[in-house]
Amino acid sequence: MTLKNLRILMFAMCLALLTVVSTRVSPAREDAAGPTEAELWPTPEPTPEPPPPTLEPTEEPVIDLEAELPGVDLNAWYLKLVNNDNSLSASFSPENVTAIRGGIYSQYFDSRAIERLEAMLDGAEAAGYEVYVRTAYRPYKSQATIFYGRATVISENQGIEYAEAEQMARKFVAYPGTSEHQLGLCADIMDSAQTPLDAEQAARLPLLLWLQEHCAEYGFIYRYPKEKQDITGWYEPWHFRYVGEDAARYMADKNLCLEEFYALSSGA
Ligand SMILES: [Zn+2]
Repeated sequence: MTLKNLRILMFAMCLALLTVVSTRVSPAREDAAGPTEAELWPTPEPTPEPPPPTLEPTEEPVIDLEAELPGVDLNAWYLKLVNNDNSLSASFSPENVTAIRGGIYSQYFDSRAIERLEAMLDGAEAAGYEVYVRTAYRPYKSQATIFYGRATVISENQGIEYAEAEQMARKFVAYPGTSEHQLGLCADIMDSAQTPLDAEQAARLPLLLWLQEHCAEYGFIYRYPKEKQDITGWYEPWHFRYVGEDAARYMADKNLCLEEFYALSSGA
């Protein structure tokens, strides 16, 4: 090989080397220009549709209250459910009744639970409230007198058939046999004999707010709150019912009325 040929060869090799280097460098220049639009705004991967829920019927769990709450016997005398669908016979009366606080209100209560009622009244007084028991035990006959009397007044005042008046009276007075007062286990408690029984006003009475908060400690429930009226049929902020402490605390904790408490049990 001549010297001239050697120079040509070396020149060709340098040229080839330069070409390689320049092709390697050029993509780097493109990178320096920044990420592409596709890299900045990547098209999101389509999320797969969730599988349709399986349409299995959801059954309400049945709670066996007698098993869950030892000491709660649904057939016990203090847990009897009385309402429009569960009425007492005309001959039903409590085993024994005793005058509340020695008869100062002329009202009677089931002798087996009167101590708990009086302890609750003492508790309210110790908290600074005046206490007055308007009605407690009411025998079937007394309820009948009140109910039929009301129906008669409605019939005469409105000039309507007696049967129709009876249906109207049911909105204001419990039909004989359907009043819990026949059990001797509930008390209508107010701050005086004169305070009118207006539910909306009574609901704001500090005494009744105290009783609603503390009644479970004595084995009582606030039986007819407004939010349960569609179940119980009544709204009576003054009406407290003895059910025993276990059941009372359970119902208060879970915000259940007596009808709901029964519905939870497997035996109901
Ligand atoms: Zn009552």
